[in-house]
Amino acid sequence: MDKKYICYCGLYCENCAVMAKVAPAAKMLYDELLKAGFEDVINYIPGGDGFWPFLKSMAEEGLCVSCKDGGGNPGCAVRICAKEKDVEVCAFCETYPCEKFDAFFQQSVGYPTLKEDNALLWEQGIEAWAKLQDDRRSNGFTYSDDKQHGG
Ligand code: SF4
Ligand code: SF4
Repeated sequence: MDKKYICYCGLYCENCAVMAKVAPAAKMLYDELLKAGFEDVINYIPGGDGFWPFLKSMAEEGLCVSCKDGGGNPGCAVRICAKEKDVEVCAFCETYPCEKFDAFFQQSVGYPTLKEDNALLWEQGIEAWAKLQDDRRSNGFTYSDDKQHGG
């Protein structure tokens, strides 16, 4: 568990598909294309001039930084509020769950594990929650595995 990846809302960045799956896949693709010599010919392939710097940046710099370092939606109301209230995670806030969590808990757009995860945080503390996230990570879990996609 790397505590810098603990998000205010109760998610854990390293269990997000972007960090767990997409970033490593981008790095693998970039490395394979480099090995195959694509860097020398990419500009001759339609769209390659835009694609290559994008892929290179994904491979070398990653796709996002942690929630606490400003990754994700810059207008996230949960993060703005939690920072103002100086809470480490919202589950420890005296008014949790506030109305800002309504959308998170809607099955059509939200994160099905979040409510239970935050209950664990509140009832058993951060160590128990961290163990759950680490166990999931070892098993290849990502939040989007369980997410209900609308439409
Ligand atoms: S930006 Fe908001 S929704 Fe995203 S991880 Fe942080 S608190 Fe959660
Ligand atoms: S009121 Fe509390 S639970 Fe709601 S977003 Fe702000 S810090 Fe989090």
